[in-house]
Amino acid sequence: MKSLFKNIEGILCDIDGTLYFKGKPIQGAIDTVSHLKEIGMKILFFTNTDSKSPHGIYNILKDFGFQIQEDEIFSPIIALKEFLAKHPSKKLFLVTTQEVAREFQEYDVIRENETPDFVIIGDFQDDWDVNRLNRAFQHVLQGATLLGTQGNIFYLDREGNPVIDTGSFVEMIARATKTKAKIFGKPSKEYFEQAIELMNIPREKLVVIGDDYESDIQGAFNVGIRAILVKTGKGKYFNIDDGKKLPNMIIPSFSSLKEYL
Ligand SMILES: [Mg+2]
Repeated sequence: MKSLFKNIEGILCDIDGTLYFKGKPIQGAIDTVSHLKEIGMKILFFTNTDSKSPHGIYNILKDFGFQIQEDEIFSPIIALKEFLAKHPSKKLFLVTTQEVAREFQEYDVIRENETPDFVIIGDFQDDWDVNRLNRAFQHVLQGATLLGTQGNIFYLDREGNPVIDTGSFVEMIARATKTKAKIFGKPSKEYFEQAIELMNIPREKLVVIGDDYESDIQGAFNVGIRAILVKTGKGKYFNIDDGKKLPNMIIPSFSSLKEYL
């Protein structure tokens, strides 16, 4: 399997479930990131976390002890901001955490009786009620465009229990309004293309590493990149007999990478 890495110059590296899980870094992952950088591997920390600002994600990794720079992080919130920068005068209705809402302070976030141009559904954690979702639904019915920060159906919480994620809520409103949402994070093809562009490395010299088959592995295959599945986080539940196209490599954890370099 060493041959896979022979021509690899860059890694699109998932974060949650791959570098940390249940509030703790994956054993050996901190050293492995440092080692990869030492041997000249370019890494983009390519996450679907949409409950936190990019700076918040950076702080988590830094506090764990990962040697990273803030500009090595690419998150759905960054992709969404890039999109909104092209539509500066549009009115927004946000269903996100407060931390993420603060990222959009310079935009026109609507008041009670206004109609938005964009309805943005992100991970809103415990800070939600059905009325908030209902308002989002009504705005989309009235013609607002539905934007979803990412497409994950569920995530695993700090105890490892599955919890409904952003993609499920976005899908619910899309279905109720008979519309199709624009998704910013994984597994959106556009999101992968943005990450490839940021890396500035030909895709045949890139590899994606992640724990989520649909988001990371399938997403990579959709844009012609090879992919490695780690058996930590959601990867624990991947079954090779599922009939899905197999990842190029399946490894016990991120730190196993060292054996193949
Ligand atoms: Mg993950």
